[in-house]
Parts: sequence; C-alpha cells; structure tokens
Amino acid sequence: MTATDLDRLDIALVGVGKIARDQHIPAIGGNGALHLAATVSRAGGVEGVENHASLGMLLQARPDIAAVSLCMPPQARYDYAAEAIRAGRHVMLEKPPGATVSEVLDLRDLAAAQGVTLFATWHSRHAAGVAAAKSWLAEKDIRRVRIDWKEDVRHWHPGQDWIWEPGGLGVFDPGINALSILTEILPAPVHLTSAELTFPENRAQPIAADLRFAGAGGLSVEAGFDWRQTGPQTWDILAETTQGVLRLSEGGAKLAIDDVPQAVAGLGEYPDLYRRFAHLIAGGASDVDVAPLLHVADAFLTGRRLTTEPFHD
Ligand code: NAP
Repeated sequence: MTATDLDRLDIALVGVGKIARDQHIPAIGGNGALHLAATVSRAGGVEGVENHASLGMLLQARPDIAAVSLCMPPQARYDYAAEAIRAGRHVMLEKPPGATVSEVLDLRDLAAAQGVTLFATWHSRHAAGVAAAKSWLAEKDIRRVRIDWKEDVRHWHPGQDWIWEPGGLGVFDPGINALSILTEILPAPVHLTSAELTFPENRAQPIAADLRFAGAGGLSVEAGFDWRQTGPQTWDILAETTQGVLRLSEGGAKLAIDDVPQAVAGLGEYPDLYRRFAHLIAGGASDVDVAPLLHVADAFLTGRRLTTEPFHD
C-alpha cells in the first residue's frame, strides 16, 4: 500500500440505481481523496467493485470503510442511515434527506451522539451559478421571486414507481431542488402562504404544484412545478430587486444579471458534494439543513388538493 492509498478515504455506495451510476460513481472516481471500496446492492452493484447483499453484511465485513453514501429512494433511507451511523460510519444522504422531517432530525441527533459526520446533500446548491447568486442578492432589496421548474416526468423518471408512492414526493422530487436553491440564495427565510397540489387520480403524489411564499419587507415568492412539460425543459429562478433582475437558469448552472450573462465556475454538482463530504469528515462536522423539506411538508400540510387525469408511464 502506498502513502497515497493510506490518505484516501474508503467509501461505500448503497443503492446502485440511476443517480449512483449517472453521478456518484463518476464523482467518487474523480476525487483523488476518495476510493469506492464497496457497494451494497440487491441488483448486483458495479462491475469490479466488491458488493454486499445487505448493509449489515458490509458493516460487519468492512470495518475499515469509514463512510457510506446512500442513493436509494427516500422512503427506505432512514433505516440504512441509522444502521450505518450506529456502526460509527460517516453518512451522506441523497436529496431529499428522508421521507419525513422528523426522521432527518433524528438522524442529525444520532450522528451528533455517535460523533460521526452526517451530510444531508442538496446537489442543486452546488450548481455553478448558485454561490454567485447568493452573494449578489446578499445586499439587495428583493421584491419578488418567480420559480418555474417544469420538466417531463416520462423522460427523467421512467418506470420509477417509488416516486409516485407516499414519501416519494411526486413533482416535489425535482421541485425540492428549486427550494434548496431558494433557501440558499435568499438572505432571510420565507414561509409558505398557500399551495395548490394537483394529483393524477390514480397516483398518491402530485404531478404539479403552485406555491406562494412571503418574506420580510413584502417579499413575495411564487413557484410553479409541473411534470407534464414536453419539449424544452425549464428550471429557472428569477429574482426582481430594486437594483436589478437576477436570473438563474438551467437548474442554477447559468446566471444573468439584467440579462447580462455572468461568468460562473464550479467543480460540478456531485464532485463538489463529495469534496464537501470529505471536508466535513476531516473537520468533524455535519451539515443537515431541512429548510427545503420543511417547505414541502408545509405544502402537503396546507395545500389545496386538485385532481387531474390518470398518469401512466
Ligand atoms: P432509482 O434508480 O429508482 O433507485 C436507486 C436504487 O436504490 C435502486 O437501483 C436500488 O438499488 C435501491 N433501492 C430501490 N428501492 C429500494 C428499497 N426499497 N430499499 C433499498 N434500496 C432500494 O432511483 P434514483 O433515480 O437513483 O434516485 C435515488 C435518489 O436520488 C432519490 O432520492 C432521488 O431524488 C435522488 N436523485 C435522483 C436523480 C435522478 O436524476 N434520477 C437526480 C438527483 C437526485 P440496488 O438495486 O442496487 O439495491
């Protein structure tokens, strides 16, 4: 073993599905401080990487693996996270961090008690334009924010039944990405004032949602989430201030002020998430922000329910 090997943090991925293959595996592979040492996968895992059929088997067989990253749907995540934390491992959670707010807070407290890192990730906060947007808005008088997050569910989530089941969030699965950016870039919190959630008559989760929020000084925020958009996809946030208009587009990747594109740079969302996970572990810290999930919970708590035609994949 070389000195470089000794410096690397061994990490295991649990739940090898779409996001693990599209983003997590390449991001870990591109981070010289991390090494994908094993997977936990019921379907077989990743070619060339040691796989375990259950998390319990991994934890028992590989006490040297200090960190696990959980990539399964949110409904199943709590039990895995609690088991890993109790075994003294650092844990990274895909978004949304859980199916309920209280389970995420429980995990936060459990991690603190065990002295391990818990990182509840919000990948969209690591999009290239988000940090610059936050810094530009910090001193501005923001009057109105408009969010349009509209995409084609058949393209992005084909056959993902869990997303339509309780705890899967429906259109809030992408919508919470917009809320994670909103809660990151606004200098002060907002609160939900009304919501309309549209459910296909054969599904347990909404296909569209319209939300309104209020903030200090008369700030109003409107958000429209819709999964029925075909053709060009829309992931835009517009913030009108008394000193100019900010537009984040393409999910936060692009930033313009008064229609003038701004230079932005970043590692990429998932490479930056793993850089931060390693940094949190090194510093003995955790990062668990439930603000986006609270807004979704409020929408389910107070939202008017509308019914629309059945949805079939
Ligand atoms: P997915 O492909 O449908 O499922 C991920 C994997 O989780 C499955 O392949 C399976 O892995 C495991 N799994 C599924 N159900 C499970 C259960 N009941 N218990 C334990 N493990 C289970 O989902 P995904 O698209 O990767 O999404 C997973 C998470 O990533 C979600 O929270 C989603 O919001 C987030 N995310 C997804 C995307 C995207 O573009 N899809 C983007 C950003 C974030 P094994 O067969 O290996 O056990």
